[in-house]
Amino acid sequence: MIRTLRDLPADALAGRRALVRVDFNVPLAGSEVADATRIEASLPTLRWLLEHECRPVLLSHLGRPGGEPNPVFSLEPVASVLSELLQAEVRFVDPCDGEEARLASHELPMGSVLLLQNTRFLAGETANDPGLAERFGALGDFYVSDAFGTLHRAHASTAGVTKFIEPCVMGLLVERELEALSTLKDPPRPFVVGFGGAKISDKIDLMNAFLGAADCMLVGGAMANTFLRAQGFSTGRSLVEEEALDLASSILDRAGDRVRLPIDLVVTTDIGDPASRVWTVGVDAIPDDAAAVDIGPETQARYAEEMEGCGAFFWNGPMGLFEDERFAQGTFALARAAAKATDRGTFTVIGGGDSAAAVRAAGLMDAVSHVSTGGGAALEFLSSGQLPGIEALRSESPEPPK
Ligand code: ADP
Ligand code: MG
Repeated sequence: MIRTLRDLPADALAGRRALVRVDFNVPLAGSEVADATRIEASLPTLRWLLEHECRPVLLSHLGRPGGEPNPVFSLEPVASVLSELLQAEVRFVDPCDGEEARLASHELPMGSVLLLQNTRFLAGETANDPGLAERFGALGDFYVSDAFGTLHRAHASTAGVTKFIEPCVMGLLVERELEALSTLKDPPRPFVVGFGGAKISDKIDLMNAFLGAADCMLVGGAMANTFLRAQGFSTGRSLVEEEALDLASSILDRAGDRVRLPIDLVVTTDIGDPASRVWTVGVDAIPDDAAAVDIGPETQARYAEEMEGCGAFFWNGPMGLFEDERFAQGTFALARAAAKATDRGTFTVIGGGDSAAAVRAAGLMDAVSHVSTGGGAALEFLSSGQLPGIEALRSESPEPPK
């Protein structure tokens, strides 16, 4: 049994240092936080801790500094944004390992938060070095795992540390994510899934995991091009994953009657040229000199129809090259259909970094049941049913401190 924050008794909380692994891997513009979504996602847990008179000590990574300090990836800009959002003092200490960090954790006053510098400034973080994990463990009196987007990595601050601190519990964000994603293991039916994005090979474990369970699979994006080619359609200059043609055929052999492929597509002659011609063709009429970049209006309508009245809907992977507004209509149409279904009682979950960004761009983040904050972590959990960072919370008996 993995415990959550709310399982801890009051006397395990008041005055204690809560060592919280958060996911503050935010996009930066220079030294400014460009998007605070991930900081906002940590607020329920942090507010809960402050309300229960805990003293939160926060560990996070940011970017890929490669195990050495690099001011470009400093977490310092996050401290002021967090302070503003939380309406609390946020102290910042650099580095996250050493005497200064340890002292700061002990000296942290009630009502304040301590944010430590980027864990990936230390080589031991990604190597899951036990020495570093043990020193991380000394920064708190109990451990809260709330960095959902990082739980598919067994690093010192996400996994190793749990051997050296007790108790270890899930934070509210991780709890909410696991609850939503676990619902898809035995989903209300009919269960419809939407798959898009670039590559079948990237998503094959996920597709296999859902192939047996899904009543209907809506396919779009470049992934659909690969399926269409495998069926013998000519795909012109579309992005096709040649190496995955056999994989596509085998999926169609196993679940062909449940797989829906586009019937019309938006094509263009030059993706990079904003003035290039953009038009819609039937799947059997992709010109040799054009590339399919989105699902067409008939496909959008058919997919929306399939989603009507379904019990659950899971979606990963944009229906087209949505980063370009001209090719975003199919993706937005699916997002609107998901919002409409949610409104009528369908349980809708969006997973994947680009998919979440597309739903955000469509302004529909709050109109679906759950948008996962963890791209890779969500997909791994759905594929394999477990995450290293969650398994680490299971270990019952920590090694005694030396
Ligand atoms: P997620 O991050 O949600 O898991 P992916 O990373 O698998 O999604 O896929 C997103 C990428 O797929 C986007 O960069 C998008 O531009 C690309 N893509 C989708 N459809 C096409 C297409 N028809 N041609 C080229 N690229 C596409
Ligand atoms: Mg992606």
